Amino acid sequence: MIRRMEDLNVAGQRVLVRVDFNVPMKDGVVSDDTRLRAALPTIEALRAQKAKVILCAHFDRPKGERVPEMSLRPVVAPLADLLGVRVGFAEDCIGDVAQKAIAGMSPGDVLLLENTRFHKGEEKNDPEFAAELAKLADIYINDAFSAAHRAHASTEGVARLLPSGAGIALQREIDHVTAALESPNHPVLAIVGGAKVSTKLDLLKNLVKKVDRLFVGGGMANTFLAAKGTEIGASLCEKDLLGTAREILDIAGAERCEILLPVDGVVAREFKAHAAHRTSDLTDIKADEMILDCGNATVDMLADAMSTARTLVWNGPLGAFEIAPFDTATVEAARFAAERCSNHGLVAVAGGGDTVAALNHAKAADDFTFISTAGGAFLEWLEGKPLPGIEALKA
Ligand code: AMP
Repeated sequence: MIRRMEDLNVAGQRVLVRVDFNVPMKDGVVSDDTRLRAALPTIEALRAQKAKVILCAHFDRPKGERVPEMSLRPVVAPLADLLGVRVGFAEDCIGDVAQKAIAGMSPGDVLLLENTRFHKGEEKNDPEFAAELAKLADIYINDAFSAAHRAHASTEGVARLLPSGAGIALQREIDHVTAALESPNHPVLAIVGGAKVSTKLDLLKNLVKKVDRLFVGGGMANTFLAAKGTEIGASLCEKDLLGTAREILDIAGAERCEILLPVDGVVAREFKAHAAHRTSDLTDIKADEMILDCGNATVDMLADAMSTARTLVWNGPLGAFEIAPFDTATVEAARFAAERCSNHGLVAVAGGGDTVAALNHAKAADDFTFISTAGGAFLEWLEGKPLPGIEALKA
């Protein structure tokens, strides 16, 4: 059981909240406040209980050095605007500076601490640094799913030193991913695409044990097609992984997971937008042709699979979606999934890497049940790995 914020008596307490403020910034100004917005429900709930809200986060990769361009200070103004209250800032996340700033807080105040990664102890999960963080507060709340796959002091170490629990945004992520993978309504269909099998081996091996059907698309499907003897011409393919692809097919067979592979492809001789192209049924691909997208027949097959599925887990594009028209299969399949979510109760959860960009590009993201922007943490969850930041919150 993961402890939750509601299980803790936060009223009037100093609460250290680990948030994800690793926001896109341009010239020292926050250019996308999605992650700030994600933290608002937890901050507001704590303020409503007159807690002193002490926010900590990392920004970028300063590697234990104080790098002025990687300060969290630019986050203060947009966060204060969103909250409609003053947000204080402490130039350091531990020590006298932080302690003084906290001593001056009144119930309901919000304070942001400077970048935790300015200290080497953060990424090393140094017990002394974690203890310094723990000194600042009575309670610890983790609200940063995207950092939960890292065993760092502000995500893991400190969680073991204070009464701790999951914040509202983290709970939401956990609940949705759990609903899709741990206790889903069957049949469950997984769609996995993207460039390479090599980056998704663990993910594929875990998913075949959990889902009823797995569609492999994108560049990585080529390795599977080649493993099954299809001539794929000059397509992206990891020849050293043909054996691994066969092994995954075997595991899937043993686990009664049906693997679906593309039955046609859009092929071109150049990897560039609007390159001359044709659709092939995969029996006649020339030596200099590359499969850059799935064809219509494959999209129809996927649509049928989505129509019978009650749960969908999606990671990775079905083709080279950044260059038109090789985005077509990704866009059509994403729109179909979105329609099934809106009108037929499909539960669709997506995330990781380019997936968010691909689904936004398809204008399908709003209708998905849940889209995780957590990247690495979402992928590690799909891989079935325990996430240290979440393990530390288990009772
Ligand atoms: P990933 O980060 O592993 O999810 O891979 C995403 C990348 O895979 C995107 O940049 C796509 O352009 C690329 N990709 C998908 N399908 C293909 C393909 N058939 N050939 C080459 N690249 C592809």
